[in-house]
Amino acid sequence: MNRPILLVSGAPAPAHLFQLRERLLAAGFHLESTASAQAVELVREKAGLGQAPDVILVDAAVGRVGMLARMLRGVYPAGHLMFLCSNEQVPALRLELQRTPMIGSYWSIAAVDDPALERLIAEAAHGTQRRLKLRTTLDKANTLLQAPRPADGLEYRRLLMSQRYLESFLSQSSDAVVALDHRATVLYANASAASLFAIHAADMPGLQASALPCWTPAFGEYLDRIARGERFHTAECDCDIGERRLPIEVVFSRVADETGGFLGTTLVIRDISARRIAQDQLIAHQTRLEELVNERTEALRTAEVALRQSQKLEAIGKLTGGVAHDFNNILQVIGSNLEMLQAEARDNPVTLARLQKAIASVDRGAKLSSQLLSFARRQPLQPVPTNLGRIVRDMDDLLRRVLGESIEVETIVGGGLWTAMVDRNQLENVILNLAINARDAMQSEGRLTIELGNAMLDDAYVEALTDVPAGQYVMLAVSDTGSGMSPETMERAFEPFFTTKPEGEGTGLGLSMVYGFVKQSGGHIRIYSELGHGTTFKIYLPRVHASEALIEDVRRIPASGGSETILVVEDDLALQGTVVEMLSGLGYKTLKANDGESALTILKSGIHIDLLFTDVVMPGNVKSPELARQAKEIQPGIDVLFTSGYTQNAIVHGGRLDPGVELISKPYRRDDLARKIGHLLANKRQALNLLTALDKREVRSEEASAALPRRILVVEDNPDALDMLCELLKMLGQDPQGAGDGEEAIGLLAEQEFDVLLTDIGLPGMSGIDLAVQAKHRQPALKIVFASGYGAVDDLDFETVSLPKPYDLADLQRVLGLGDKLA
Ligand code: ADP
Ligand code: MG
Repeated sequence: MNRPILLVSGAPAPAHLFQLRERLLAAGFHLESTASAQAVELVREKAGLGQAPDVILVDAAVGRVGMLARMLRGVYPAGHLMFLCSNEQVPALRLELQRTPMIGSYWSIAAVDDPALERLIAEAAHGTQRRLKLRTTLDKANTLLQAPRPADGLEYRRLLMSQRYLESFLSQSSDAVVALDHRATVLYANASAASLFAIHAADMPGLQASALPCWTPAFGEYLDRIARGERFHTAECDCDIGERRLPIEVVFSRVADETGGFLGTTLVIRDISARRIAQDQLIAHQTRLEELVNERTEALRTAEVALRQSQKLEAIGKLTGGVAHDFNNILQVIGSNLEMLQAEARDNPVTLARLQKAIASVDRGAKLSSQLLSFARRQPLQPVPTNLGRIVRDMDDLLRRVLGESIEVETIVGGGLWTAMVDRNQLENVILNLAINARDAMQSEGRLTIELGNAMLDDAYVEALTDVPAGQYVMLAVSDTGSGMSPETMERAFEPFFTTKPEGEGTGLGLSMVYGFVKQSGGHIRIYSELGHGTTFKIYLPRVHASEALIEDVRRIPASGGSETILVVEDDLALQGTVVEMLSGLGYKTLKANDGESALTILKSGIHIDLLFTDVVMPGNVKSPELARQAKEIQPGIDVLFTSGYTQNAIVHGGRLDPGVELISKPYRRDDLARKIGHLLANKRQALNLLTALDKREVRSEEASAALPRRILVVEDNPDALDMLCELLKMLGQDPQGAGDGEEAIGLLAEQEFDVLLTDIGLPGMSGIDLAVQAKHRQPALKIVFASGYGAVDDLDFETVSLPKPYDLADLQRVLGLGDKLA
């Protein structure tokens, strides 16, 4: 018997157990004994050492046998438990053990004094050994059955190959890959991981995950979750790698065995800085987009407000224009009759004085309706290149008188002021209106500042405006230190008849006139005002690239009559009557027509007519521009003068007179009309004189042509005048070429050589002076002759000759150096 038998008893062992021990030793059993008090500890220790006993003998006298049995069974799952007691105790002990759970079925009870005890013990030991043997065989068989079949050569090579693939895949991956075991120790890390963490690849295995640079406390938590069964987790964090903290994304994946048991975790780590940047940019773009949308919405709102305001003013403008037009016709009739009465009542001072008052009222009415027309943008404007600085300086005296002594006036003119395209008379009215308003606002004490400067209105500025394009402007600002305006007043200030002044003091027309003028001139106006502090009006007028043009002031020509024939075309019969009467009074022969058709009939009849004086707006099929055109065809020498209560686009394009079109606005005074007609006819007479003079010398001009003809570039915007001048020069044996404006002349200068440039100074667009400067630059030998109503131009750095208007043939010959030849 080499397998041991364990005897468990109380301490000290009772005497009968000594005898039993002797018996068993004598029978050859390999007996170990132990005391029940130490049983737990001892059997536990012993269980780890040596061979487990086949039979465990337990002396039932130790007490609490069930518990002891359960404990022993836990330590020796295979051994046979044999309980010893006296014969009488056997049934009770059996009952107790049968009720004890978890002691299995290999147990028995024997009486201590049973003479067959040795045999019983031997049989139990034998049974244990048989069971163990059976178990071992079963285990072996199971192991054999479960063991994988040994791989054959091909399979093995495949296995190796797939491992290589896996390795090369992992080592080439740009993502960092780290494999952790169940204790979060690094088993494997690929090259990207080593370089990301800046740890030598060989040093990676064996590191604790907590030693990796990407470790955060949250990391540990994610690993725990994976260990507890979560299959997959993605986290983003910033980690201390390199010099800028690096944003990374980590994917945790659970690795399990076939039965789902936890083996470890793989980490796939990605540098997501590019993605972060893209995300940040996206957010930045979105924010910017939102800002832009807000800005645009705001701009749109502002533009809408501006649009609504200008639409309102536009609507009022239409109404106003219509009223003013009719009003002007009425004033014209009244005024003309009053003037004729004046002539009749020459000997009656009382009547004369009354008439004077009535005429003054007509004048006031005329002023009123002219302001209304300005607002309606129906005032015929004669915009010319103008130096605003000079206008303001010339007004100095007037302004000081208007403002009174207690208001200081300061004028600031920016250097190198650009030239603006404006109607000078209207601009003077604008400045006067603003000054008067300022005076009223300052209650006769304060300071008025007039500033002039160059200004660029940029795209951003004009975006919110409906009326002006971006570009270069001359800015006129009029500021006062007066009462200022409330926002409500500011909003309505430009409306005609809007006034905050007491009855009889304000007409509410000043600013409407200013507004209409600025708009009609292609400009922009803006009010800046603060209640109690003062007001600034800023006016922007479009810049023009030309020197200031000097225009003839018709007002200076004395009014006189003549004996020429004038055809008056006017559908308002009352008006027609007064006009005819007025003209006859001045000595002219008159013919009259009620519309375009009857006017044409007269023209075609062959009666010689010097001047066609026609209303712009007329009933019937023949409109006034068409009438003028046909009249010139039928009688080429005819002059045309238009008149109108207001001017339609038919004749005034965009509110500006067509070059060469003559117009007198209703209501006009007898003197104005006399002057205007006198001026037109005098020019004509002069031209005729020139021609007659030429006729007389015609025989001798052949001599002149013997001299070398000079190439003369003639620039004149009035086509008739241009033709005539060219004709004259040809008769003088010269070689003239005509151009209608400066640009055309420049074109000709680029193509051919000239000896002389004979140019008007006031030309549309580029002025004659600018043209001369450019021409001289191109052709330095060119002789420059300015034909103008004013004196010599002396501020140029080359020599020029002036031919003052009106000139005669002799003057022309003299300046061209032809005098001797023809004398
Ligand atoms: P009027 O001068 O006849 O009242 P305007 O059209 O010239 O008419 O002006 C309209 C209104 O605008 C004025 O009644 C006044 O309330 C306001 N206003 C104009 N200019 C100024 C200014 N410089 N300071 C304060 N308020 C002004
Ligand atoms: Mg006013």
